[in-house]
Amino acid sequence: MSQSGPLMMRLIASSVTAANRAGKIIRDVMSQGDLGIVEKAKDDLQTEADRSAQRCIVASLSRQFPNITIIGEEGVSDIEVPSDWLITHGDPEILKKKCPDTLEDITEEDVVVWVDPLDGTSEYTQGFLEHVTVLIGISIREQPIGGVIHQPFWGGSSEDGAGRTIWGLQGFGIEGLPPIPRTKEPIPLIVTTSRSHSNSLAESCLEAMKPEKVLRVGGAGYKVLQLLEGTATAYVFASPGCKKWDTCAPEAILRAAGGSLTDILGRPYNYGSNVSRPNRSGVLAAPTVQMHQALTDLIPEHVKTTLKD
Ligand code: AMP
Ligand code: MG
Ligand code: MG
Repeated sequence: MSQSGPLMMRLIASSVTAANRAGKIIRDVMSQGDLGIVEKAKDDLQTEADRSAQRCIVASLSRQFPNITIIGEEGVSDIEVPSDWLITHGDPEILKKKCPDTLEDITEEDVVVWVDPLDGTSEYTQGFLEHVTVLIGISIREQPIGGVIHQPFWGGSSEDGAGRTIWGLQGFGIEGLPPIPRTKEPIPLIVTTSRSHSNSLAESCLEAMKPEKVLRVGGAGYKVLQLLEGTATAYVFASPGCKKWDTCAPEAILRAAGGSLTDILGRPYNYGSNVSRPNRSGVLAAPTVQMHQALTDLIPEHVKTTLKD
C-alpha cells in the first residue's frame, strides 16, 4: 500500500498479483465441486468462481488505489472479503521495471479498470478449463493501455505449477510469452471464434472469408492468446455479444505486442467509464496491424452493414 514509484507500474504489478489470487479461487471452486451456477441471461452463466474472483480483484485494487474507477462484469461487488483474498502488494519484479515515459504522470482519476473475473464461464462449467482466463484491463483516458491475462489452469489443475500470467503495457511490450512466432509466407488464414455464442451472421461471415481452418474456443482472452502464440492468425466474431471487460485487457496486450483489435468494421472501441458495455459491432483482431488491415477487406459488406450501428 505504501509502495512508491509510478502509478502505472504499481497498478499493473498489483493487477498481476490480484489476477493470480483470483485464479487460485477459480481452481478452488472447481476442486470443491459446487459451482453455484446462476443463469444471468440466455447463454450467459455466472458461477461462484466468477463472483468470488471478482470480489477478490475489486477489493484488492480498490483498497490500494481508492480513486480509480473499476467496472466488473459481475456488477457492484461486496468488498468485505476474507482476509486471505486481499492482495496488498504488487509483483516485485514488475515494480522494478521502468515505466514508459508517456505513462509516468497518470493519476488515479485517469484510470478505468475493466475486470472480467472469469472469461469463458460456459467452458469452465463444461470442463474446457484451458480456455478459462482472468482479465484485468487498464484504460487511461478511454484507451486500452495495459492488461493482464491469467490462465488459472495452464499446466494442469493441480496446485503445483498451475497457471501462468501474461501482461502488457503500451510503450513497454508484453511479458509472459515468447515473441509472436514468424509465420511462413503466405500467412494461412486460421480463424479463432466463439464455441458457445455463435449465430447465423457470425457463421456467414466466416464462410465468406474462406479460412483455411476455424478454431472454436471459449473466451476473448484465450482467443487473443492464440493470436499471440501463433496458433491462430485472426479472431473474428461478427456478433454483438462481447463486452468491454472481455476486450480491454486482451486488446491492450495485443496492441503492446504490435497487433490490433477493433470492431468488425475496423473501428476502435473506446474504454471510458460511460461507454456502453456491449461491443455491439463485433470483434476483429490480428497479431499485426498489417494482417488486421487485410482482414477488414475480407469482411463481407452485408456483415458490415448489419453491425455498423
Ligand atoms: P465466446 O467467444 O463465445 O467465449 O465469447 C467471448 C466473451 O463474450 C465471453 O465472455 C462471453 O460470455 C461473451 N459473449 C459473447 N457472446 C455472447 C452472448 N451472445 N451472450 C452473452 N455473452 C456473450
Ligand atoms: Mg468474458
Ligand atoms: Mg466473465
